[in-house]
Parts: sequence; structure tokens; C-alpha cells
Amino acid sequence: MLALTATAISATAAVAAGYQSMSPAGQWYGKTFTGNPRCSRQLAVTFDDGPNDPYTRRLLEVLAQHNIQATFFLIGDYVRQRPKIAREISDAGHTIGNHTCTHPLLIFKNENEIRRELLDCRSAIADAVGAHSNLFRPPFGGRRPAVLRVARELGFEPIMWRITGYDWNAPPAAEIERKISRRIRGGDVILLHDGGHKQLGVDRSQTILAADRLATRYKKEGFDFVTIPEMMAGLSKP
Ligand SMILES: [Zn+2]
Repeated sequence: MLALTATAISATAAVAAGYQSMSPAGQWYGKTFTGNPRCSRQLAVTFDDGPNDPYTRRLLEVLAQHNIQATFFLIGDYVRQRPKIAREISDAGHTIGNHTCTHPLLIFKNENEIRRELLDCRSAIADAVGAHSNLFRPPFGGRRPAVLRVARELGFEPIMWRITGYDWNAPPAAEIERKISRRIRGGDVILLHDGGHKQLGVDRSQTILAADRLATRYKKEGFDFVTIPEMMAGLSKP
């Protein structure tokens, strides 16, 4: 009986630990930023897995039309292949963060591999755009103490999210929009994708359309779209 109970307990703990290692807002494994207190008037939209042509450029046009800045977590290998797009993101005033070089699930990597992924991505971005932020988002949101410890040792700030559009398999824009809008309270970090981790060229037209509609709607409602550093500093744009 005792053995059974212990097994049951450890199974529960393992499930909880597995959930925590992937859960975007879970804080068991160290503090990660997911947003500001509810009901702030700020929203920080983040785009992962770029640069990705032609969609990243189209997205930049949409963001420019709305005069809003966002945060892009770039994949180092793609930055090496598309440095010009990375530069355009930076030149437009958006924040660029590190999303590793090859987008592995870091909970299965040792510390050296984690370090390599972060540093390779950092140098790919530095070669393309020069100075950039120290923000880091783990691929798939996967993390464990070693991931966060190595990231912090290297000077990175881990950033998660509070709201996702579940847009990685390219659902219709209306669906992405609905999933986000029903959870927006203010002060939220929102996760979307302008690229795909499996290959370049993944169609992100629906995400761009959703971003366009969300920007229109929430600007009208008085929200302020900010970058992650601006949100972390609690700053509103003038
Ligand atoms: Zn990703």
C-alpha cells in the first residue's frame, strides 16, 4: 500500500513538474516575466520563430501602419539566412530577443548545449543588427532550473507570456483573434508567430491579419502597445 501511495504521489509530482516546465506562467522553476499587473493599459505583443519571408516584412508593414512596436524572438539559424530582415525589424524600432539557434526543447539539453544555443543565437543576431536586448524566450516555453540558471549566468532575462493565439498551425485569423481577445485584461504579454520553427517560409498570413485586427480594436479601446522592455519598465509611450 505504502509503495503504491508513494508511486501515486511521485506520478502526481512528475505530472505537475512536467506541466510546470512547459506552462507559460508557471513559476516553480524560477521567475520569468509574463506581464504586468492586470488592468494596466499596456499590451506587449511578441512574435516568435522569425525572421520568415515574406511574412515578417508584411507584418512590419502592418505594425508600421498602426505605429506600434513589438518584440521579436528570433531563431539564430534563420537570422544567419535572413540577416537583412532582422535588420529591418531592428531599424523599425522593434525589440529583438533570443529564441536559440536551432529551436530545441531545452529541458532535454545539458548545460553546455543550452549555453551553445544561446550564445550562437546571440552572435547571429549581433552580426546582423549589432546591439540588441538581453531578452530570451525558451522554445516551446520549455524550461527547468538549469535552463534559467544558464540563461541568467549569460545575462539573459527569460520572457514567457500570459496569452497565446495558438497560431502555430495557422488557424483562421478570426480564431486567433478570438482566443486572444477573450483573455485580454491589460498588462499582458501576448504570444504570436511570424515564422515556424520547422522551416522558413511557413504561411503566417492569418497571424498578420489577426494582429492587424487586434491592433485596430485595442488601440480604439485605449490600450497602448509596447515592447517588452517598455512593459518591464512600466513605461507608457508618450
Ligand atoms: Zn518558437
